Amino acid sequence: METPADAKARLLAAGLRPTAARLLLWEIMQGQGRALTAGDLLELMHRRRQVNKVTVYRNIEQFLRRGLVRRLCLEGRVAYYELASDQHPSHPHFQCTACGQVECLEPVNMSRFWTELKGPLGNRAEKIEILVEGICRHCRRLG
Ligand SMILES: [Zn+2]
Ligand SMILES: [Zn+2]
Repeated sequence: METPADAKARLLAAGLRPTAARLLLWEIMQGQGRALTAGDLLELMHRRRQVNKVTVYRNIEQFLRRGLVRRLCLEGRVAYYELASDQHPSHPHFQCTACGQVECLEPVNMSRFWTELKGPLGNRAEKIEILVEGICRHCRRLG
């Protein structure tokens, strides 16, 4: 788990001023155990303080461009975001087909899989995303 001081240092190293809004965004994205949409992030920020929608969206975009956040390409049109750090390396995700919620799964060793897939692609291959689909615990209870 990163401390607020770590977050500050990461932002500064990425060339971003550690404003209160950015630190709060970071804090919210950290330790959720799931990836969030821009709408989710906005809502969670709102619970904590007055935030401007445009600022939140702009900060997400800046985090993304500086590699602090990764955008997951999943089913549907909504983008999901999560922090990209050494403490939170790339990992598979579980998405509920009923509510769309995206849970982070433990990283698995994909090196064999990766080598096989990458072979014909060579250096065009940059990353693998693994998505497991199903019904989440919450939706299963409602069903
Ligand atoms: Zn669900
Ligand atoms: Zn994740």
